[in-house]
Amino acid sequence: MIIKNAKLVTEENKTKIQDILIKDGKIKRIADYIEVIDEEVIDANDKLILPGGIDVHVHLREPGFTHKETIKTGSLAALHGGYTTIMPMPNINPFPDNVEVIKAYQALLQKDGACNIYPYACITRGEIGKHLVDMKAIKELGISWFSDDGVGVQREDMMYKAMQSAHENDVMIVAHTEDMRYRKVKACMHEGKRNKELDLIGIPSACEFKQIERDLQLAYETKAKYHICHMSSKESVELLKKYKQMGADVSGEVTTHHLLLNEHDVENTNHKMNPPLRSKEDQQALINGLLEGVIDFVANDHAPHSEEEKKAPMDSAPFGIVALETSIPLIYTKFVKKGIFTLEQFQKFISTNPAKRFGFDTKGSIQEGYDADIICIAEKVGKIDKKAFISLGKNTPFDQYDVACEINFSMVNGIIKYTSKEVQNEA
Ligand SMILES: [Zn+2]
Repeated sequence: MIIKNAKLVTEENKTKIQDILIKDGKIKRIADYIEVIDEEVIDANDKLILPGGIDVHVHLREPGFTHKETIKTGSLAALHGGYTTIMPMPNINPFPDNVEVIKAYQALLQKDGACNIYPYACITRGEIGKHLVDMKAIKELGISWFSDDGVGVQREDMMYKAMQSAHENDVMIVAHTEDMRYRKVKACMHEGKRNKELDLIGIPSACEFKQIERDLQLAYETKAKYHICHMSSKESVELLKKYKQMGADVSGEVTTHHLLLNEHDVENTNHKMNPPLRSKEDQQALINGLLEGVIDFVANDHAPHSEEEKKAPMDSAPFGIVALETSIPLIYTKFVKKGIFTLEQFQKFISTNPAKRFGFDTKGSIQEGYDADIICIAEKVGKIDKKAFISLGKNTPFDQYDVACEINFSMVNGIIKYTSKEVQNEA
């Protein structure tokens, strides 16, 4: 296959029109002009071609909660949104916390997954925080990422053990940080100004950054590879900056919704997520943290729930929003088009940097020898429409938001797996 007239990002906002030859799932050659012999041709018509998005924080809900999402719908939603690689979190049922369950889980992902899927295993059995999983045995199944996402590992001695084991086995701890001593029952949004207006119980920033501080110190001491999930507060950014400067092997991610919204946007349960949308100051600190390289990349915590579940009152509805089908268009519209992110930064934040950090050596870049995981982004004014989501979850605060682009196609390992209606009509 040959992609003709692909607009590739070179540096900052500079681009270059190139042809791309794809063979055996890999990018074989990139040149000004590649002659077509008998290859299938896709004409990108000078549209932006990027390495496929890599989202390291996704909830596919299967097995266990298939009324919210399935491996199939979640991975198809990823492709619709421009993500070709996703990493599902392990808070499913049964928990992937031992070799036997993980093998069955991997077989299910293999059978139903429409894009590249690299699952996490739990840090502790059943995410209860009491017994460490066998990281050595699980690594032999090809899993080098461990998380108890959904809850923080509450006990310091347990996290210390986990980090020691992670270091010994050269795997990464990916932490949802939440010190439950700071979270009151029924707390459902940021403890700041807006929660008082709405008369709701707040979750203080300390709930997150106190545990981050503990973990960063443990990572520094044990030399473990450690990554912070969904950072939300300015204090968290400062702490990550400090420990990076000290030389710890640590990183962090931020969601698109924490970059775009703050507590004052909270109106209903589609603005309820954990960690919560925090203050304007926090929001700005997250944007700056990403621009300065303190926060490494964007990951979205795609968290589908049924409409029924989200109909509950603020203090009892489940946390989380869907994101796979909104994030790339939103970042492009709100940050790239406005000149806040360069095209190069955009590419790094959604693909290159997560690939590097998670050790996907042949992903995250359009280069010869790399995997042909490729997306095409077309300039097109439109609106986000939750009715058009492939995800079973429609719980988004961004429905009817204006966007300036759409994903024309998503290719995984050299095969087109998603094509937009517009492109289908042209063909
Ligand atoms: Zn989480």
